[in-house]
Amino acid sequence: MKTEAAPFRLEDYRAPAFTIDTVGLDFQLAPSATRVVATIALRPNTDEARNGRLELVGDEIVLKGLKLDGATLPESRYTATPTLLTLHDAPNRPFTLEIETLVDPAANTKLMGLYRTSGTYCTQCEAEGFRRITYFLDRPDVLAVYTTRIEAEKSDAPILLANGNPVESGDVPGTDRHFAVWHDPFPKPSYLFAMVAGDLGVITDSFTTSSGREVELRIYCEHGKEARCTYAMDALKRSMKWDEDVFGLEYDLDIFIIVAVSDFNMGAMENKGLNVFNDKYVLADPDTATDADYANVEGVIAHEYFHNWTGNRITCRDWFQLCLKEGLTVFRDQEFSSDMRSRAVKRIADVRTLQARQFPEDGGPLAHPVRPEIYHEISNFYTPTVYEKGAEVVRMLKSILGPDDFRNGMDLYVERHDGDAATIEDFLASFADATGADLTQFKLWYSQAGTPQIIARGAYDEADRTYRLTLSQSIPATPGQSDKQPMHMPIRFGLIGPNGEDMEFASVSGGRVEGDIIHLTEASQTLVFEGVGGRPVPSLLRGFSAPVRLAIDISAADLLFQVRTDADPFNRWQAAQTLAMRNLVASTTEQIAGRPAKAEPALIDALGSVLDDETLEPAFRAQVLQLPSEADIARELGQNVDPDAIAAARRELRLAISTGLGNRIERHYGSLSGAESFRPDAASAGKRALRNTLLDLLLARRSPEAIAAALAHFETANNMTDRLAALSAITQAALPERRAVLDAFHKRYQDDALVLDKWLTLEATVPASDTLDRVKALLKHPSYSPNNPNRVRALVGSFASANQTQFNRVDGAGYDFLADFALELDKRNPQTTARLLVSFRSWRALEPVRRARAEAALRRIAAAPDLSPDTLDIVTRTLA
Ligand SMILES: [Zn+2]
Repeated sequence: MKTEAAPFRLEDYRAPAFTIDTVGLDFQLAPSATRVVATIALRPNTDEARNGRLELVGDEIVLKGLKLDGATLPESRYTATPTLLTLHDAPNRPFTLEIETLVDPAANTKLMGLYRTSGTYCTQCEAEGFRRITYFLDRPDVLAVYTTRIEAEKSDAPILLANGNPVESGDVPGTDRHFAVWHDPFPKPSYLFAMVAGDLGVITDSFTTSSGREVELRIYCEHGKEARCTYAMDALKRSMKWDEDVFGLEYDLDIFIIVAVSDFNMGAMENKGLNVFNDKYVLADPDTATDADYANVEGVIAHEYFHNWTGNRITCRDWFQLCLKEGLTVFRDQEFSSDMRSRAVKRIADVRTLQARQFPEDGGPLAHPVRPEIYHEISNFYTPTVYEKGAEVVRMLKSILGPDDFRNGMDLYVERHDGDAATIEDFLASFADATGADLTQFKLWYSQAGTPQIIARGAYDEADRTYRLTLSQSIPATPGQSDKQPMHMPIRFGLIGPNGEDMEFASVSGGRVEGDIIHLTEASQTLVFEGVGGRPVPSLLRGFSAPVRLAIDISAADLLFQVRTDADPFNRWQAAQTLAMRNLVASTTEQIAGRPAKAEPALIDALGSVLDDETLEPAFRAQVLQLPSEADIARELGQNVDPDAIAAARRELRLAISTGLGNRIERHYGSLSGAESFRPDAASAGKRALRNTLLDLLLARRSPEAIAAALAHFETANNMTDRLAALSAITQAALPERRAVLDAFHKRYQDDALVLDKWLTLEATVPASDTLDRVKALLKHPSYSPNNPNRVRALVGSFASANQTQFNRVDGAGYDFLADFALELDKRNPQTTARLLVSFRSWRALEPVRRARAEAALRRIAAAPDLSPDTLDIVTRTLA
């Protein structure tokens, strides 16, 4: 087994000995031999520069020439390897280095640095891709002004783009080549550099900022797909307006460009003025995109745009501070989507994602703090903890300070740190200084990993008219952290009275309570509410005000009451989920004992009352009717997990619910027409969501009538949302009819790669024993491509992460398949490989037979020679 290189530690941070003020880049583009000349103005930055040793990092770099202040440097004065350029006696004064390198974009399957995708030259530099273009001080605290000249054959690349504003372009006399020069006046780190060149289609628009400046907007895509970019353009303009209105932040360059490419490791990248997107987050039309796709396009366009301030104008000092830009920007895009759509439904969706993706990470071997303090491979830290939990920490900060003081803190942060490479300390100090708040304890959220648990116990004394609420917090041990201190948690709450409305109380003692927020700061606190007029039902953690697990001793009757009356829509949903989860956990136990599942009457009552309540928005009713997933149940059980028993219990409970709700399902389904023409707005999407949820529940019966309804739903759908929902219901029920509809779907969309991803995912997630063979066969299908990350994630990623019973087959064949696949893919694309292997993160929670087989597969990967650092890091930590 290969051993890892020494890790990077936060405590070892030191300012760079040299820094860079300006960078001139000259690209002579050619598919297999692109020449890059980087002219870098360096100067000493700390006393350490006096020793004259300058190290510039590289990655697979071929050096063709090196000049210092215009003169060729003799080889005795430097050492160059593919990963490091060392100058032995760099001057102790400002000087210029001219570095000529040769890059092979066509051979770059890692998709980091400069590469080719469908004939287009494209770059991806975050986190450490720039060093694959030239030797550099490739770290986020080196901020420079970039000027980029690109030259290429006109026929090969008629479009030439880089960061900043366009300053010059023209033909190269006597050749069939042309050039363009771009200048970005805002100093930036190298990870925000971008260059794109190719033959692309475009749509254009403009935006006038609040101070009256006109900004040109362009979205580039493959020819023929321009019409599918209009929703993204609309979302961009709404994002620009929203950031001015809500945060007072205005766009700064003359032009803003988005380019959609089909081969991309990530979702999208916020390069200054030139965002590069995975095309699945740009392209959308009714025939090919679902409502979820539209929402994702809107959210990702906003996210990358918002980085212009939180990430670009204020960047991170080092990669340990990744959450400084990501947690904050995810919070901002979530707020934007909440304002564009239904806030309650958006919150439920975000919490579902957090619980499905971040909670298992926080509870397993890959757990790490929101701000990690040690890493081997930074590319493995683009995690749900840094992004989603990071956003929850910012949301808690807003809850603790209140909206006005939160905005004051943000204003001070921008005012103080514009142009800086900042830290979490800088961020929190801005809020503390702007408001006078003491955030010392709150800061623990950035350093303590693990999902806290809160245990709540309440007792009402009728004689004294007092309600005593005891809240205890504990944080489980995580890798490298055994002892944890109590944290500052904002617990939003209400005391629901017998009439269903929140009750007033005369006074409260035992802790700080402000408005509807309890500030939990001790390991255990008992709050005494005086003057409470009746026994309350406590509604705690409203809006999911802290990313914790809440355990509360509450009866099914009180939960049902909460589903019907809670003033907080999130907690109405949560109460229904709690009822369902209790029922599912009990049913799983029954299943293992060989007894059938049965639905609790309170659960049927709760779901029925929400279904029938026409005053609630349809999207919300759909959310309540969706049971916790198999993965949610596995997480709740936490140990000795048997995915087959969970799936069977959930299937039986769905049948019992479907039968219990009776013909109310058909009645509501029938009243929601699928015939109206498609509009992507939230209200229309909500109606589709409810109708499609009801179809899925109907199909739990597997009756001939239900199957006929699902097939008709598929055939008459006039948009992708409805078509895919029917198909998903049929495949998830593993009905024999699935083969014909899957084939029909494939035939209809065989030329559309993004839709074929949906088809691959459906095929990979059928809960049937022949699915693994089908997945293996699809690896050779013409619609699959091993070099495209979207295809890999759709087929293999979905199988491993979203097919609980088949990936976790008791014979271990699912684990063996993923191990074989990963070992092969690792040779070409380590980042995508490492992300696939995250599917093993909960292996220790499995029952003993599966656990042993998963461990054997992991050990086989770990023992393979020549693993990439990315994959070695994930496997080593997963096994630790
Ligand atoms: Zn981001």
